[in-house]
Amino acid sequence: MNLYSGPVFEMAREQFHLVADHIGIEEKARDRLLYPKRAIAVSIPVNMDDGQTRVFQGYRVQHHLTLGPTKGGTRFSPDLDVGEVAALAIWMSWKCALAGLPYGGAKGGVACDPQELSSRELEAVSRRYMQEMIPFVGPNTDVMAPDMGTNEQVMAWFMDTYSMYNGHAINEIVTGKPVAIGGTAGRREATGRGVAHLVNRALEQIQVRASSATAIVQGFGNVGSISAYILAREMGVKIVGLGDHTAAYYDASGLPLEAIERHVRQHRNLAGWSKQALIDPSELLSRKCDILVPAATEQVITAANASKLSCRVLAEGANGPTTPDADAIIEQRGDIFVIPDILCNSGGVIVSYFEWVQDVQRLFWTERKVNARLNDILDVTFERVLNRAKQDGVSHRMAAMAIGVEKVREGKRLRGLFP
Ligand code: NAD
Repeated sequence: MNLYSGPVFEMAREQFHLVADHIGIEEKARDRLLYPKRAIAVSIPVNMDDGQTRVFQGYRVQHHLTLGPTKGGTRFSPDLDVGEVAALAIWMSWKCALAGLPYGGAKGGVACDPQELSSRELEAVSRRYMQEMIPFVGPNTDVMAPDMGTNEQVMAWFMDTYSMYNGHAINEIVTGKPVAIGGTAGRREATGRGVAHLVNRALEQIQVRASSATAIVQGFGNVGSISAYILAREMGVKIVGLGDHTAAYYDASGLPLEAIERHVRQHRNLAGWSKQALIDPSELLSRKCDILVPAATEQVITAANASKLSCRVLAEGANGPTTPDADAIIEQRGDIFVIPDILCNSGGVIVSYFEWVQDVQRLFWTERKVNARLNDILDVTFERVLNRAKQDGVSHRMAAMAIGVEKVREGKRLRGLFP
């Protein structure tokens, strides 16, 4: 047992040890690479609209600062704990290193249900969280971004709180903020755009035309909805299944994205859109499709359903959707092209890096330039992962993680152990 113990941290730990075995990291060198540099836990007292004062728990975990500041999203979700946050921070480290970004990984969040908070309460939680984090973050120390349950508005409140404390605007303290206050063109779409771009590359590999392919997307938030739109509108993929935490739908003849989008804009969630297409959410991931995009939460593909998957490409929009047990089953099956999370959803942090660079330089790019540079990095990284997998005879996940872990390990080796 340690501070981080829990199912998500155990999964990140297990994955790391599999990679460490593969690349031959000796046992005594492993903890230094795995365990976070620091974890911060704070209490966030908020005066609620009903007159009560509630205290929420907030966390930030900074995995390593070896290659530059840490970078990572902020999650507002009811069951959040420090172990989950640490796992997500560790995955961010391998992801940033894989994409060649000068960052370590971080993650943070508040255990709260943003859908149950009024706008004023959400603002109070966001501002107080950032206020408590001020001693530990900074544009050269740790740069926050959105994740599940947070959005551009929350980032704007973070930036304002940090800036007011410092007496001047410090745009580069967060990424994923609105363009009007130093955000970058293309950030909101970046993760989903990256997922769709890599799906295209995977389809080329297995020689399937996008315009004749079908997709199922789990999660209809930032990553899921934008992945679905780009797959459908720009690539001609037919979306046959969609789900969120309230409902799941499947229709082999295709789901009408515009109507669903209107429903979600009005009701926030998918629940109540249709009775005909409604299915048991536990069946969504195993329904037939060419492209399966889990874009919601961790550990949804497990040993219990991995053998039932009926897709040809698994594009992991979410972080940690597939457990190591499920990985083993998928690898043995050998009929699914996996785009592992640290590659598949890296479009978000790559464009966050572009945003930080633009803020620091006070020089802003066009959306076209952002997307072109994003695609360049994704293409190079995709090739590197495929080549490494072939060279080592391992899965895409193992190859991607090996590249990421090796980069961090080399940085730590060169810098040495202080003092
Ligand atoms: P979001 O809050 O915008 O949307 C989350 C979606 O997942 C919602 O539709 C929600 O209903 C659904 N969901 C939550 N729990 C679910 C469950 N148990 N079953 C089915 N659906 C469920 O969040 P997001 O920013 O789209 O993030 C989604 C995933 O992508 C997370 O794993 C996140 O870490 C990862 N990610 C996000 C970004 C980003 O830029 N936002 C970048 C990289 C990775």
